[in-house]
Amino acid sequence: MKGCVINLNYDSKKGKVLSYTVIVITIAICTVFYMRYRPNAYEIKMNDKLTFYVKDKEEFKIDLKNLQNDLKKEFKSFRLKDKFTWSRIHVNYKDLTPKEDIRKIILDSNKESLKKLDNKRVEIKSSDNKAVLAKKIKFLPPCEGKVTSSFGMRWGKMHKGMDIANAAGSPIYAALDGKVSYAGWIEGYGNVIKIEHNNGVETVYAHCKLIRVKKGEQVKQGQLIGDMGSTGRSTGPHVHFEVRVNGVPQNPANYI
Ligand SMILES: [Zn+2]
Repeated sequence: MKGCVINLNYDSKKGKVLSYTVIVITIAICTVFYMRYRPNAYEIKMNDKLTFYVKDKEEFKIDLKNLQNDLKKEFKSFRLKDKFTWSRIHVNYKDLTPKEDIRKIILDSNKESLKKLDNKRVEIKSSDNKAVLAKKIKFLPPCEGKVTSSFGMRWGKMHKGMDIANAAGSPIYAALDGKVSYAGWIEGYGNVIKIEHNNGVETVYAHCKLIRVKKGEQVKQGQLIGDMGSTGRSTGPHVHFEVRVNGVPQNPANYI
């Protein structure tokens, strides 16, 4: 009998220790998880199309005001018409959009109205850049297939493109006329093709099985440039397709 009681005590003690351990481990895991994936930045959308990632919303607002004031000094009647919306997200700080890029892109999208205000004072080449930003130029989808992963945050990391999957060897086409700026291997991307287009637009086609173009080559929209594959960091045949404006990755869904 006595032994039994002792045993019970012993068991409940063990149980207590065990449950404390479980609680402590759970708290530890939750803390690590929270630290890793807690929102630490803002995703800012400009006119629902272009996306920036910034650490501090207030700082962004101040930068925006400064930009507007700078422009007002030159053009009294200037007003930024772009709409900005934001949401809290977790992002790796290396994926934040550099300030100069944001400024450049906002200036770009306001080119036309600035030009109307004063033709001489803004050094802007006549351009159809605005057209690209305004989605007037239609990109050709780089391949046929199923979109298996879209642009945006994925487990606290930025997925800078859109994944389109199909059978290995499926044709990949140039989304727009342009010049091949890179054709070769990049860690993670595998065999990758980069094409430069007008107005600071660049497209990227990753994980190719085969590259059919060379660096420096001019390509036409719809031209076969490679074969779909699964090279680099990839789990199956697909094209990882990126659209960049002035180097900043944008959501390809807004273009194709
Ligand atoms: Zn991808």
